[in-house]
Amino acid sequence: MKSVKLDHVYKMFGNAKGVKDINLDIQSGEFFTFLGPSGCGKTTTLRMIAGFYFPTRGKIYFDQQDVTTLQPNNRNIGMVFQNYALFPHMTVFENIAFGLQVRKRSNAAIKEKVNNVQKLVHLDGYGSRKITELSGGQQQRVALARALVIEPDILLLDEPLSNLDAKLREETRVEIKRLQVELGITTIYVTHDQHEAMAMSDRIVVMNKGKVQQIGTPQEIYNAPANTFVASFIGESNILQGVIKEINGNVVIVDLGEGVQLRGNKNNCGPNVQFTIGETVNLSIRPEMMVEGDGSNAISGEVQLVEFSGIMIKYLVKVGKNKINVMFVNKGINILERGEKITVHIPENGIYFLGKEW
Ligand code: ATP
Repeated sequence: MKSVKLDHVYKMFGNAKGVKDINLDIQSGEFFTFLGPSGCGKTTTLRMIAGFYFPTRGKIYFDQQDVTTLQPNNRNIGMVFQNYALFPHMTVFENIAFGLQVRKRSNAAIKEKVNNVQKLVHLDGYGSRKITELSGGQQQRVALARALVIEPDILLLDEPLSNLDAKLREETRVEIKRLQVELGITTIYVTHDQHEAMAMSDRIVVMNKGKVQQIGTPQEIYNAPANTFVASFIGESNILQGVIKEINGNVVIVDLGEGVQLRGNKNNCGPNVQFTIGETVNLSIRPEMMVEGDGSNAISGEVQLVEFSGIMIKYLVKVGKNKINVMFVNKGINILERGEKITVHIPENGIYFLGKEW
C-alpha cells in the first residue's frame, strides 16, 4: 500500500476553472475522502491521481516516486467509476479478469484470483452471468472486484454509490468500508454526500471552487469547521454574524444586534480569526449544542416552526434579527408549539468562531 502526496497541484481548464494549489498527504492504508459540491474539483483531482489528467503545475508522488506524468496503466491503481464502466457484453468473470489478462497472467492464476475476489465481494457463483443480468448493486460489486483483482497499491472510487437506492447505498457503504479495513488498502473516495464521507473516512478534504477548504478527521471537520463554507456544508449549522464588544482573556463577547449578546472562547476558532474589538466575526452554533433553560449565555425567542422526526425535535426560533435552528433529542416530554417562547442556553464551547474561506 502506498501513500499519496499532492504538492502544489493545479489543473486549469481556461476561464480560471479547475483546481488550484492542492496540497495533500494521504497516508498508506488511509481511507481518504474528497467531499464538496458539484463542480468543486473532486473528480479532476482524482483523475490526476489516476493519471487520466496531468497537472498544469505541481507534483504527485506515490510514496517517494514522482508519478506526475506517468500513464495510468503504469500506476498500479484500481478505479471504480460512478457508472461502473463495465463491459456489458461480457460475463462477470470476464469483466473481473480483464485487468489480469491485460497484464498477461496465466489462465490458472487468473482463475484463482478472480474466484478469490468474487468471494470477497460476495459474488460467488455469479461468474458466468452477463452484466445485463445483474442488479445495480451487483454491478457495483463487479466494478469493485475488477478494481481489486489487480491488487492495486491505491484504490480510487468516484461516487461509486450514487446509482444505488438509499437502502442499498447504506449496505454497500458498510461493505466497502469492511473491505478497505480488511485489505488495509489506501483508498481515495469521491463524494458530495457528507453522511457517506463522515461514516466511511479516516480523514476528509472539504473542497469548494477548486480549492481545499479544510482537511481533517470527520470529528475535526464537524466540531471545528474552518470557515463558513465548511460549517454550512457539513451538518446543519447556525451561522451568525456579530461584532466583538469585549475581550477578557480568552473570553470574547459578541453583539448580535437587538440586545442579543453571546460569550465565546478565543480557543474555539478556525484559522486567521481577528479578535479585535469592533471587528465583525462569523459564529457557528450547531443546533444540538444548545440546551433548554436559561442561565448565562442564554437566548430567547419565539418558535416559528416545529419539526418532529421521532429521534429529534427541531425548532426554528426567531431571536432578534436572526433565525436559529435548535435541536433536542426526543425524551417523550411535551413539544412546544408554534408561537410559544423558548429560552436556550449555549455552552461556551458550542460557539465556534469561523475563519475566512480560501
Ligand atoms: P461533480 O461532483 O459534479 O462530478 P466535481 O467536484 O467532481 O463535480 P470536477 O468535475 O472536478 O468537479 O470539475 C471542476 C471544475 O473544472 C468545474 O468547474 C468543471 O466545469 C471544470 N472541468 C472539469 N473537467 C473539465 C474539462 N475536461 N474541460 C473543461 N472544464 C472542466
